[in-house]
Amino acid sequence: MAFLDRTARTLLLAELASGMVKTFSYMFKRRATVNYPYEKGPLSPRFRGEHALRRYPNGEERCIACKLCEAICPAQAITIEAEPREDGSRRTTRYDIDMTKCIYCGLCEEACPVDAIVEGPNFEFATETRAELFYDKQKLLDNGDRWEMEIAARLAADAPYR
Ligand code: SF4
Ligand code: SF4
Repeated sequence: MAFLDRTARTLLLAELASGMVKTFSYMFKRRATVNYPYEKGPLSPRFRGEHALRRYPNGEERCIACKLCEAICPAQAITIEAEPREDGSRRTTRYDIDMTKCIYCGLCEEACPVDAIVEGPNFEFATETRAELFYDKQKLLDNGDRWEMEIAARLAADAPYR
């Protein structure tokens, strides 16, 4: 019986027909895919992407060189050097992140008392060389300037849960 059943299904193209029925049944359903990179899916406010150093609205750097992020980083990816400015404020002279070491744990952002170092929404920062993943202060500040609106919106959305 099993042989006859298999033979009949083969001759009648039963698998092909059931496959086509399944295909057509999805034609009128909502698409589950997006046309990346032209379309992108939603991101959680807690998404941990590429790092950025933020500024205040007047352009001043937020970072006060307390080095808490450097101390807490489990991958020891952050290197900071600092010295006082003429006005007595303390600012970094060097702020490097070795992105090849980073494990995107978000602890640097959690530790920062002034929301200076953050992990932004950008996940499209693949490079062709390792050297491009050694971020310096200027690169991080540029990221902050570029993504400030998205980062501020993300922090505001997550604020009630922190
Ligand atoms: S996300 Fe984690 S591993 Fe990466 S720099 Fe921040 S603390 Fe270090
Ligand atoms: S980024 Fe934040 S935690 Fe790190 S040194 Fe600057 S102020 Fe301190």
